[in-house]
Amino acid sequence: MIAKVIVDVPSRQTDRPFDYEVPLSMRKWIEVGSRVGVPFGGRVLQGFVTGLAEETDIDVKRLKPVSELLDPVPPLLPDLVELAKWLSDKYCCSWTTALQAMIPAALKGKAERLVGIQDEEAAAEELPPELLEWLVGSAKLVKLDALLARFPNYAGPVKAALRTGTLAEQTSIRDRLAVRKVLTVFVPEGAEEVREAMVKLPARAAKQRELLARMLEHGAPVPLQALLAETGGSAASVRSLADKGLLILREVETQRDPYAGREFERTAPLPLTAGQEEVYSRIRRVIGEGVPQTMLLHGVTGSGKTEVYLQSIQFCLEQSKQAIVLVPEISLTPQMVERFKGRFGDAVAVLHSRLSNGERYDEWRKIRNRRVQVAIGARSAIFAPFERIGLIIIDEEHESSYKQEESPKYHARDVAVRRARQHGAAVVLGSATPSLETFAAASRPQASRDQGREQALLPMPDRVGGRPMPPVTVVDMREELKEGNRSMFSRLLHRSLAERLERGEQSVLLLNRRGYSTFVMCRSCGYTAACPHCDISLTYHQKTRALRCHYCGHAEQAPATCPACESEHIRYFGTGTQKVEEELAKLFPGIRVIRMDVDTTTEKNSHEKLLKQFGERKADVLLGTQMVAKGLDFPYVTLVGVIAADTSLNLPDFRSAERTFQLLTQVAGRAGRHHLPGEVVVQTYSPEHYAIVTAQKHDYAAFVNEELRHRGALGYPPYCRLILITMSHEQLPLLSAVCDRFAAALRELAEHEGVLLPLASGFGRALEVLGPVASPIARMKDRYRFQCVIKYRGNIDASALVRRVLVPFTEGPPQRQVQFSIDVDPQVIL
Ligand code: ADP
Ligand code: ZN
Ligand code: ZN
Repeated sequence: MIAKVIVDVPSRQTDRPFDYEVPLSMRKWIEVGSRVGVPFGGRVLQGFVTGLAEETDIDVKRLKPVSELLDPVPPLLPDLVELAKWLSDKYCCSWTTALQAMIPAALKGKAERLVGIQDEEAAAEELPPELLEWLVGSAKLVKLDALLARFPNYAGPVKAALRTGTLAEQTSIRDRLAVRKVLTVFVPEGAEEVREAMVKLPARAAKQRELLARMLEHGAPVPLQALLAETGGSAASVRSLADKGLLILREVETQRDPYAGREFERTAPLPLTAGQEEVYSRIRRVIGEGVPQTMLLHGVTGSGKTEVYLQSIQFCLEQSKQAIVLVPEISLTPQMVERFKGRFGDAVAVLHSRLSNGERYDEWRKIRNRRVQVAIGARSAIFAPFERIGLIIIDEEHESSYKQEESPKYHARDVAVRRARQHGAAVVLGSATPSLETFAAASRPQASRDQGREQALLPMPDRVGGRPMPPVTVVDMREELKEGNRSMFSRLLHRSLAERLERGEQSVLLLNRRGYSTFVMCRSCGYTAACPHCDISLTYHQKTRALRCHYCGHAEQAPATCPACESEHIRYFGTGTQKVEEELAKLFPGIRVIRMDVDTTTEKNSHEKLLKQFGERKADVLLGTQMVAKGLDFPYVTLVGVIAADTSLNLPDFRSAERTFQLLTQVAGRAGRHHLPGEVVVQTYSPEHYAIVTAQKHDYAAFVNEELRHRGALGYPPYCRLILITMSHEQLPLLSAVCDRFAAALRELAEHEGVLLPLASGFGRALEVLGPVASPIARMKDRYRFQCVIKYRGNIDASALVRRVLVPFTEGPPQRQVQFSIDVDPQVIL
């Protein structure tokens, strides 16, 4: 039997399966998706089995055997292995990078070198006595690292003994993290006999007697540590009881459960509103049919999307199928988790980035071992190893965090559609402000022809219980200034805040800080502190008074005078939220503010803690960045204020209007979700901008119409798709020459395929190559950067074109090589 193995070397040369012989002992166990250790270039490497075959083209004499099988249950399933291949094709990354993205970090094993005595006689003669003694006394094989750490002076003799064959070496893959096992104390069968034996224990064994008594009282196994803590006894006493056969000491597998000890109040399904019922029955029908179908659930904030998700999942489970729920990382707050755990209890695994590697591994194992049927998590939960998926839900589908920024640069939404096709599952994309791509695909089936499928549009235009959308007032800050108000609060927002304080209601304040960083500027000469290695300004960190580069990590002390003109008028622009907080304290003495931004949420669980405090009404104002806009549901929030809506409008990003509209709509949706009516105040310097005008009216359709017009005129998605190719090298002339050749080769191939046509040409299939031009950040980590953008429309496999053109550019000596970074469907191209 032959195993086809993708080895863990992320290079284009090795990115294909290699053949290995499967030893007899492994045949029953090895499957597609198994993780193995295989000899590769003189080492042992971790790899994944991507196929099994009876025969191979390779000379049998050269065929090497698989050296180890790493898990009794394969961590990956055949459908995931196939999905990884698709990922690597579509996103132009290696197959192994795609496979690695699917497993928890704990399973990224590392090779470890082991040594043992091979020739006992020779060893007795050649090895230093203490080394020999230690080796004989140890297990059969010892880690080479451990041996050298203990006997640093014997590296020479060890090397010699390995060469002569006195010692033998073996490599083995070790996981970075293992299943956690806990020493646990059991009472043996026949408690009565134990009780009798206890009475007969000698008087000096009082401690042992107490331990036994406590164990009999418990009547259930107790972890050793807990027992010792409880009784003050010693491990030696327990061991001595175990030797007498009165207790049993055994390792037991345990779960690192991040939600252990937390009670989730169970909830029952709510009777659905007519609007919910219509949508729910559609979803139910699709799940029941088992035919893949993507649906856009376009529901305004507070329309009850989550209840529809919950009942759809319930139906899915009743069909003995599993469900995956993706939510933006930021929404994985206890509020969201509570709603799912409350409905489905222990059937839910939660995967988010704040888990430790161990916790994450254990949650993942619950999925793989079929102990849960629902996985809720951020982006990578789309790879949850379920075997029969009936439903995939992506909440807030427009969120940019569904796109991974590092390789594989996948979009979870597109992966979901693909995975659903493998399983015959339903995909529900939920949002109050769908991305233009999704909305276009759902409203015009033809538009999504290149995905080979249509999407259905399921609207929920009304809030539950007929609650009105909160009224939004837009304040023109230029007018405020004219009237002599220089504060960052308009008079209306000031008055509204004062009213909330008086009534004991709560407010949420959003400082839209996207793209705004804290920097240093000289007021006299305009000097700004920039990184010496990257073309980007340094960021000021108030806590350490240091200037830091976010790209390469370069740090320096903030200067007291301007390095350019020696003026003392050098200004540090600290975090905006801090300033707002100070201003609030000045205007409303005694006001209780919870500030939520990158500075206050670095610690584990700090995000949750802050929200909990706010939920318990321990603060009047929740002030923060984008984090406060999403998914929160607090009944006493009746005012939402946006300090400056423009920051995200002025970014050179073709999605800036869309992002602004989404943010304003989301944050407005936080107000008045319950019995108390809400109100929203948006401060801006461009009140006439359509993103702000339409957000004020809660008019998604009007926004989309206007935005589609702009996108069409400029040739941006959803009218085309994009691939961004960034190339970098330390030497500018070399880089520039290679980039020109690359772009020319790309155009030539497209021409050859008959698709090199202007997008404006009106043909169904068209492709343009823009560039090369210098990247917006033209130098990073001392490497120059250029970019090309491919715009294309229609049924063209543009990724395949890029992969083909790339081949000759990624061969040759590494120091001459230009680094290529491919971003398919990029979020930002600037
Ligand atoms: P969305 O996710 O669309 O913003 P939610 O699912 O959070 O909306 O629902 C908003 C509020 O309405 C929540 O407090 C929820 O408990 C309540 N709700 C949802 N569906 C129903 C229903 N069928 N009957 C009564 N209340 C409901
Ligand atoms: Zn200066
Ligand atoms: Zn830098």
